Amino acid sequence: MAAFDRAAARAHTLAISIRSDLPGFKVAVARRALAGLPSPGDYRVVIKPLRYRTRPSLSGLCEFDLGRIILRVPEPFRPFDELVYVNARRKRGAGMRFAWVAEKVHFRTRRDVLRFLYCHEWLHWYLREVQSRRSGAETACDRFALRNFRRRRVTIEDALEALQGTRMQLLPDGFRLAA
Ligand SMILES: [Zn+2]
Repeated sequence: MAAFDRAAARAHTLAISIRSDLPGFKVAVARRALAGLPSPGDYRVVIKPLRYRTRPSLSGLCEFDLGRIILRVPEPFRPFDELVYVNARRKRGAGMRFAWVAEKVHFRTRRDVLRFLYCHEWLHWYLREVQSRRSGAETACDRFALRNFRRRRVTIEDALEALQGTRMQLLPDGFRLAA
């Protein structure tokens, strides 16, 4: 990565307004965890604990009316696996039948969780605030998060690439998906 890119990535993350409601988890640590990920405009990122009963899971939220992205970190934290649905393939034959494609993802650290959730919620934000589209598209957000959360730097181009896959799913009959 060139020095300029590094500086740009740092500037992005520095510009994000972050609050941590997770006891013992400092804003500076959260900022480092989210380094290299794209800015959510004037939205604020709020990190909260996710108190679970049986096992940790993923939980995030884009509060459009309040301009906040909520990221919840399982507490107490321990590494966990989660099935992430990244695609739906049209089944052969008549009708709108889909086979879901899932991938098991391992979340080793809080940083893993924060980056995955942030990528997912950020794409909701991008669809709504930048593209003025419905903010749905859960599989597109999960696919984008899965592809990118372990990468050091994520850009708008990566989002556009993930969204291209979404459009492909909506192509009419007669379009053959690659196996
Ligand atoms: Zn979502």
